[in-house]
Amino acid sequence: MLQILHIDRSELFRKVMQEIILRCGHTVHSVASKKEALTYLSSNMVDLVITALEFDDGDAESFIIDMPQSAKKEIPVVVVTSSDSLELRERLFSLGVVDYILKSDVNEEHFKHFFATLSAEDELSRFMRDMKVAILDDSPIILKVVHRILDMNGFQFMDFFGTPQELLKSGKNYDLYLIDMVLPELTGDKVIKELRSMQPNAIIISMSQFTGEKSISTVLMAGADDYIHKPFDAASLLSRIKINVRSYQYKKRLELMAVTDGLTGLYNHRFIFERLEEETAKVSRYGRPLSVIMLDIDNFKRVNDTFGHRTGDEVIQSVANSIIANIRKTDVAGRYGGEEFLVLLPETDLKAAQVVAEKIRSTVNQLSFATSALSVTISAGVAEAEKGETFEALITRVDTKLYQAKRNGKNRVEG
Ligand code: GH3
Ligand code: MG
Ligand code: MG
Repeated sequence: MLQILHIDRSELFRKVMQEIILRCGHTVHSVASKKEALTYLSSNMVDLVITALEFDDGDAESFIIDMPQSAKKEIPVVVVTSSDSLELRERLFSLGVVDYILKSDVNEEHFKHFFATLSAEDELSRFMRDMKVAILDDSPIILKVVHRILDMNGFQFMDFFGTPQELLKSGKNYDLYLIDMVLPELTGDKVIKELRSMQPNAIIISMSQFTGEKSISTVLMAGADDYIHKPFDAASLLSRIKINVRSYQYKKRLELMAVTDGLTGLYNHRFIFERLEEETAKVSRYGRPLSVIMLDIDNFKRVNDTFGHRTGDEVIQSVANSIIANIRKTDVAGRYGGEEFLVLLPETDLKAAQVVAEKIRSTVNQLSFATSALSVTISAGVAEAEKGETFEALITRVDTKLYQAKRNGKNRVEG
């Protein structure tokens, strides 16, 4: 939901905009003058300003100039007007106005689309502002230019390096690297190669005066995600960064989707199995303790048959939440089957794992549902991995424990 400040001297138009904004699901504070708008801005959080071109005590231009410095950087301003000229547009855009809407275009559809784009863009900007950025260039002037561009666009964590050694020896990890190609000591593509081997997921953009195909292919082959020609302006540098951040986010989202279970948000069967294999290997190699808990919802067929599949799904989600609420960040929980779950607890012995399982059992036992007749219990088996034991053997053992819990009356933990 966006908090919008609307400035227009016409009471009728303020009402029209209020209705549109509220129907789009956002909140609005409307004022008639520049003075009221500046007062409001000084003590309220605002995500977006929508303003007319002229008010009784000033105009959009002077309003933008008088906005507090921090607000000017953070809050996008949109101008709504009935007059239009190329010259005026250029002047407003150069002041940082993000959009220019004609009064004749003001309708709910138009704004709905506009707000949706803005929210997505805003999320991207917020994400970008929090990224840690390293800039490597032996030209102090380029470093200064890039600093100014990133600073003006809200980036907060930037480190500047004049030589490859300084960067490579800094020992710090960055989300985004801007790397000059022509450097003393080490060429840019070697730096990129090294950075890429240390940081497979970072975004690396190379900056250079590329003269032929070969140099571009060299940097891409070295592991850069993209390149930008020197000299560049603010808009092209930012759009390069944005494009790469966007695909980085997509990639992250896809990676997450590939390992998570859609219903519960827990890891899926394949991922939990792979992790189990890795963790049992660590037991053999380093002698570290590892325990596993296998859980199964009791009489779940009856839940489905009595209350329907949808309620059944809600129960599965609630059990997943109960598991998450009782495990550590370093533990790994997965949906193993329909209503079966597997939890891996590294660095945990059998006794401690039994306590965790008991906590989960008790939490589930106390869950209450909208359908008051519904009560849910789980049974759990617990086992600690033995040195040299295969993950298959461990799974069989914990499964047997779970089966015992079922046979001994359900709603209990065996280990
Ligand atoms: P027990 O106490 O012995 O575990 O009995 P149970 O009824 O839970 O038996 P069982 O584990 O064999 O049954 C699991 C049922 O879970 C069968 C299947 O219809 C249901 N199920 C599996 N996946 C889902 C799902 O994603 N959603 C819903 N609603 N039901 C599921
Ligand atoms: Mg069951
Ligand atoms: Mg089952």
